Amino acid sequence: MLYVDPEVCIDCGACADVCPVDAIVADYDLAVKDRAYIEINNEYFEQPGARGYSAKRALRQRPAVTSDVLRVAIVGTGPAACYAAQELLTMAAEGLRIDMFERLLVPGGLVRFGVAPDHLKTKEVANGFERIFDDKRLKLHLGVDVGRDLLHADMIAGYDAVIYAVGMLSSRSLGIKGEDLRGSHSAAEFAAWYNGHPDFADFSCDLDAERAIVIGNGNVALDVARVLMQNVGDLHRSDIAEHALAALKQSRLQEVVVLGRRGPLDAAFTLPELLGLREREDFALWTDLPLGIEDDPLQQEVTALAPWAARQKLRAILDLPRQQPAGRSIRLSFLRSPEAVIGEHRVEGVMQTRNALTRNRDGKIIVAPTGHNLTEEAGLILRSVGFRGDAIAGVPFDETRGTIPNDGGRVRDPTTGDTLRGVYVTGWIKRGPSGVIGTNKSCAHETVNALLADHSAERLGGSTSQDQSDRQSMTLPRHYELADWRAIDQHERASGRAVGRPRVKLVREAEMLRAANAVWSSSDG
Ligand code: NAP
Repeated sequence: MLYVDPEVCIDCGACADVCPVDAIVADYDLAVKDRAYIEINNEYFEQPGARGYSAKRALRQRPAVTSDVLRVAIVGTGPAACYAAQELLTMAAEGLRIDMFERLLVPGGLVRFGVAPDHLKTKEVANGFERIFDDKRLKLHLGVDVGRDLLHADMIAGYDAVIYAVGMLSSRSLGIKGEDLRGSHSAAEFAAWYNGHPDFADFSCDLDAERAIVIGNGNVALDVARVLMQNVGDLHRSDIAEHALAALKQSRLQEVVVLGRRGPLDAAFTLPELLGLREREDFALWTDLPLGIEDDPLQQEVTALAPWAARQKLRAILDLPRQQPAGRSIRLSFLRSPEAVIGEHRVEGVMQTRNALTRNRDGKIIVAPTGHNLTEEAGLILRSVGFRGDAIAGVPFDETRGTIPNDGGRVRDPTTGDTLRGVYVTGWIKRGPSGVIGTNKSCAHETVNALLADHSAERLGGSTSQDQSDRQSMTLPRHYELADWRAIDQHERASGRAVGRPRVKLVREAEMLRAANAVWSSSDG
């Protein structure tokens, strides 16, 4: 009678592993005699007042796979790619062959290089992904840049289907004066640096000012603010890169300002991340919201209309101290838009416009500039205003959204509106930079369902034996394999154990190759 909400379950497998009576089974694996529980669960959640997931869901069916051979390439090894592989391995038949490609020498994408180093629990999702790498139907190819070492045309020729799950590496820009001054960085590059991304091994930033300003107030903004303010002793217990740990030990920063252009109801961070900051003992969390803001009639009106989660966030923010506490602190600042990053040779501060709630001509309450500016000094600026993807040669790309255009995961040619045969997309590059890691599971489910439906309908062009023999045998470029990654992983964990850390990440390729004692592999596909 246990119901696992499919909207929030991320298939980490932890519940199934610990259940002492093997009572946890995926809906599509239920024995016929147990299928009645699908309806019982649905009916439970339809009761008035029932908490939890309310939409009625049909039993997920394994799509029929019409041929015993299906060759799929997945580009990327982050959560989006791994969930896609997991869905395929669960839903397709024995004849499935997956080649997974990763530009770097280590897999993991966002789990290794995006999730904050102190969020070790979140990183445990990687344990489930490691299990799929052991599946005999899947091969990992590390150090292969699709778009450079292998072209899109090669992928189309070599596979029945290719799934792009490349995420988003670039940052959106603010388009304001001074944004590129020394000392102004994107939060994405700062996070990649402290997470030991090889492309950012030589990145450096000055931490010798008293104040940093983070522009934007999403969860990434809270991540970077927390890493900057927290006790270095705590960070030592995380998997933060050694170079960042050394730099943070020398940091003189006392305050990080997290700057939101709208009010607290519209803060982009989520409640759990906010509460996590509030509970910390190594620094204080406060806000410069004026006292009495909750009595403002416009504020009261928007609060009454706001969703429940936003009202909970507002309540938690209004409970914060309104005065700067002694010692290190993070300040949540609202209703301020960045106008310019100021400074001559390096950043000296941010000029901001104050905003306020106001009623427009249609009677709608909006956030608008008041015309009052202020300048706040800071020696480090981190721009945390969202991500965008990078185009892959030969694959359609939407320059405005920074995504690959698609219909439910089927890549679409924007000029003709037609979907491209055998080309799919999943994750941030499909839907934009939103959601938590688990969101990629339902996203991958949709994409893989589309792929398998096309395969069943013989729309992939690889379904017949003639198609299969016509499929070009592909020579893969030189690459590294699972054994190399496992050697690197073991080396990192062993180095970590020696100094009381979960792992000591290797950052440079040469170090990784030494640990793997790797020799290039090349293979015919
Ligand atoms: P985000 O949640 O979209 O936040 C972007 C922020 O940038 C918003 O505050 C936005 O303000 C602001 N912004 C955009 N343009 C701006 C401008 N021109 N001037 C000033 N501010 C501007 O993005 P994110 O923080 O990069 O996170 C990406 C996704 O990853 C999110 O879904 C997030 O929840 C997820 N994530 C989750 C976790 C976690 O669960 N622990 C950790 C990290 C990331 P407006 O709202 O006013 O547009």
